[in-house]
Amino acid sequence: MNMITNHMPTAELQAIDAAHHMHPFTDGAELAAKGARIITRAKGVMLTDSEGEEILDGMAGLWCVNIGYGREEMAEVAARQMRELPFYNTFFQTSHVPAIALAQRIAELAPGDLNHVFFASGGSDANDTNLRLVRHYWAAKGKPSKTVVISRKNAYHGSTMAGASLGGMGGMHAQGGLPIPGIVHINQPHWYAEGGEMSPEEFGLARARELEAKIAELGEDNVAAFIAEPIQGAGGVIIPPETYWPEIQRICDAHEILLIADEVICGFGRTGNWFGSQTLGIRPHIMTVAKGLSSGYVPIGASIVWDEVADTVARAGDFNHGYTYSGHPVSCAVALENLRIIEEEQLIENVATGTGPYLKEKWEQLADHPLVGEAHTRGFMGTLALTPDKARRAPFEAAEGTVGLICRGHCFKGNLVMRHVGDRMIIAPPLIFQKSDVDLLIERAVKALDLTLAEIKDKGLY
Ligand code: PMP
Repeated sequence: MNMITNHMPTAELQAIDAAHHMHPFTDGAELAAKGARIITRAKGVMLTDSEGEEILDGMAGLWCVNIGYGREEMAEVAARQMRELPFYNTFFQTSHVPAIALAQRIAELAPGDLNHVFFASGGSDANDTNLRLVRHYWAAKGKPSKTVVISRKNAYHGSTMAGASLGGMGGMHAQGGLPIPGIVHINQPHWYAEGGEMSPEEFGLARARELEAKIAELGEDNVAAFIAEPIQGAGGVIIPPETYWPEIQRICDAHEILLIADEVICGFGRTGNWFGSQTLGIRPHIMTVAKGLSSGYVPIGASIVWDEVADTVARAGDFNHGYTYSGHPVSCAVALENLRIIEEEQLIENVATGTGPYLKEKWEQLADHPLVGEAHTRGFMGTLALTPDKARRAPFEAAEGTVGLICRGHCFKGNLVMRHVGDRMIIAPPLIFQKSDVDLLIERAVKALDLTLAEIKDKGLY
């Protein structure tokens, strides 16, 4: 077998990739025909590909590289931990220092009485934990009928059976027999696309009250929890109207429903606070975290659990659940170092009061572009809607996503990673972004928008 290195010609790497590597969320045949872009290294906010192109990463990898790429301290901590204790499990009444220290640190950072941590390998399996945990909790409380979890259409909670079922993505439910029983979905607070003639405030309330209607329909005694992202990420960075979350909170409190905030994207600084729940004024009983917990340097996720839920579960005998890598020592040590960097380098302040307001000002000016119907940010999450008719917030006549994909293509060619969700373009840059990075991002984004407009005019799509 030949040795595969960064120095191989791109075409050769692409051929081997196509022959052996099945990619997530990818049309395999299409990719094989075209060849993947191969990223060879990264530093700060820039990626380098196998052709030597320097690409500005507007998505922090997959919303996760909060501290930026290439931090030596992270590599050193990983190496030190691997030498000292590369693996030991946390099953069967054992523990180790990295897991103890990280659990304590997370409990310090998490708001309210969220003082207990159950570790996972990522966000999807942390949500699997949550589904089992809330049902087990209600059974332990003598209310075993409380099993149904209410979620939202166009939510993303992962790709495992439970994660994808909790999520509300039609394309995912269409494959593999999902959702699994006991999970139902209400509508999302997506005013731009679905708000019609209502004001955002009216619409936010109306969508929140769908939760109360669903609880009434199912019977309060049958509902275990409501799960939602504070700001929907993969659904297109849907920033809910101001009225939405307070009403959701009121409904969960009034009907004894556990509230699970999926903070996999919003957690660890992205919205300008440690957690999105703090930014949006949510008091969850459980938070799902992953991604920014380690800035993606190592896989790790967790459920951060309210005292009362954790205490009840602790008194109920064995919780028959766990992953080999729950509290993996290398992941925990690296995550701790990541949290130290976020705090010491004041990256959350950078989002809240440093670069964040500048990003907001510049990004929202994109709404002046003829193709853009709205442009908003919250912290370091940004979204813009492409439209042929701003006044009507109209979708394109072409199949949803056609224009978004064209725009993403121009971003790619222009060395900017900006993602498309349908015909929305989204960003979630590393939290180390400076004003000069924002300027470069906007310059490349405008170019991509101009080229997109020209192409869709050419093709008769506009
Ligand atoms: N929840 C949310 C809100 C997410 O955005 C994601 C990943 N994009 C997940 C869960 C799943 O996390 P993972 O891919 O680490 O399993």
